[in-house]
Amino acid sequence: MMELNMYIDGKWITSISGEKREVKNPANGKVIALAAEGTAEDTIYAISIARKTFESGVWSTLPFKARANYLNKIANLLEENAEEIAMLETLNNGKMLLAAKTDVQNAIDCFRYYASLITQPEGEMYNAGDLVQTIVIREPIGVCSLIVPWNFPLLMASWQIAPALAAGNTIILKPSEITPVTAVKLFEIIEKAGVPAGVANLVLGTGNIVGSEMVDSDWVDKVAFIGGTETGKKIMRHAAENAKKISLELGGKSPNIVFADNDLEIAVDNALFNIFFNSGQVCTAASRLLIEESIHDKFVDRLIERAKKIVIGQGNKDTSEMGPLVSEAHMQKVLRYIEIGKQEGATLACGGNRIIDNGFENGFFVEPTIFTDTRPDMRIVQEEIFGPVLVIQKFKDEEEAITLANDTVYGLAGAVFCKDIEKAMRVVRKIQAGITWVNCYHVATVQAPWGGYKQSGIGRGLGIFALDEFSERKQINVSYKAHPVGWFSN
Ligand code: NAD
Repeated sequence: MMELNMYIDGKWITSISGEKREVKNPANGKVIALAAEGTAEDTIYAISIARKTFESGVWSTLPFKARANYLNKIANLLEENAEEIAMLETLNNGKMLLAAKTDVQNAIDCFRYYASLITQPEGEMYNAGDLVQTIVIREPIGVCSLIVPWNFPLLMASWQIAPALAAGNTIILKPSEITPVTAVKLFEIIEKAGVPAGVANLVLGTGNIVGSEMVDSDWVDKVAFIGGTETGKKIMRHAAENAKKISLELGGKSPNIVFADNDLEIAVDNALFNIFFNSGQVCTAASRLLIEESIHDKFVDRLIERAKKIVIGQGNKDTSEMGPLVSEAHMQKVLRYIEIGKQEGATLACGGNRIIDNGFENGFFVEPTIFTDTRPDMRIVQEEIFGPVLVIQKFKDEEEAITLANDTVYGLAGAVFCKDIEKAMRVVRKIQAGITWVNCYHVATVQAPWGGYKQSGIGRGLGIFALDEFSERKQINVSYKAHPVGWFSN
């Protein structure tokens, strides 16, 4: 049984309360680890350490090359331990091993990218007058609280930690209480890489206790949050108390628009991947499929035929294609949405059940589920379900496709599948979303901005944008010599 502890001030510690939380494998419900259940006091302690360490300048004043070396060391150690970390991610989250391996590789890329970014030329300078110059520099913000969800535990932590540390901040990370395993591994690596004590701190526990302290504390300068939209709004309200800086990467209900000119087999294949990858537990999942009227029936028939053949199973089995949901509570939420869909009058065209036979009885597996005959005002069309549930909408022309695509409060992602590239580009430009694709999906590049329009977020992750999100900008106006101003005559 793994024992998971918190990493504060360079030491591994248990919770002050001594309480432990059971961490489960969602594929069979078995307890795989006992995690320290952090308290408000533990969190305040971690924040005070991050504050003291920031003030000491041990990290913030480090030459950029030294910080980059640490980030590269973290990347190298992740690479050395990639197999083990991917296995642990699968064990704790339930995702396919291949997907977990891709996550680890993306995390490695992320640390290397920020290491290289801070060694690039940067800065601005203006000649503000004769021998007067304006220099613009980047400075760290201070103490950053990083709060991440359970769907890509290692990756979401890395997307926040790498730019936050690169910019010179000290941090406190809180993984989801459901999936702390790979965050602990990542901090073991941070320790091994020799990052000075107190720079990177790990706390474990719930959002209501540990997370809210990380948001409310006056010692914290910035909150970077990845998670659900309702939690994001709560965080925003609390952070407003002392006008803390925030960045929010939130939920979505993303449209996948399929025009009639597609190769049907290819478009069906993509539509399945776009929603059912990671059991639909992807913020950018294409959970709404918008199909042009003339191909709708044929497309849906083929989609259902293929969805029924998806091989459900444990993530570490080679034959599996789709794993469980992350927890019993989350599975119940998804099943409730399926009931809502039926009550609202949508047609349950396939799936809809928990899988409880053939050794699946203790896991949290739900069949790939497809609803047809939906209306735009239905809750299953408007709300993020975050599971293997696809709702299908029909459109007659380009204009209606765009209207339907934009008809939710979310604006995270979206895609257009269309052979006519001029039309595809015209439509994708009209989708109100920060991450969009044409004739592909789920392609994510660490260099490109990641974030949402509308209620899907504030700010942008990844790329130079995340470095900006974790930096202050200061202008320094320098006159090489002080002169009398001459404004006042006496
Ligand atoms: P969640 O909002 O329930 O929790 C996210 C994190 O916030 C967890 O660590 C949780 O413990 C913490 N938290 C909960 N309440 C809190 C509070 N009051 N104060 C501070 N912290 C609190 O989300 P989840 O269920 O873990 O993850 C799924 C959600 O994350 C989905 O909505 C998904 O779309 C979103 N997500 C978004 C992105 C993105 O890049 N936009 C990426 C991944 C996941």
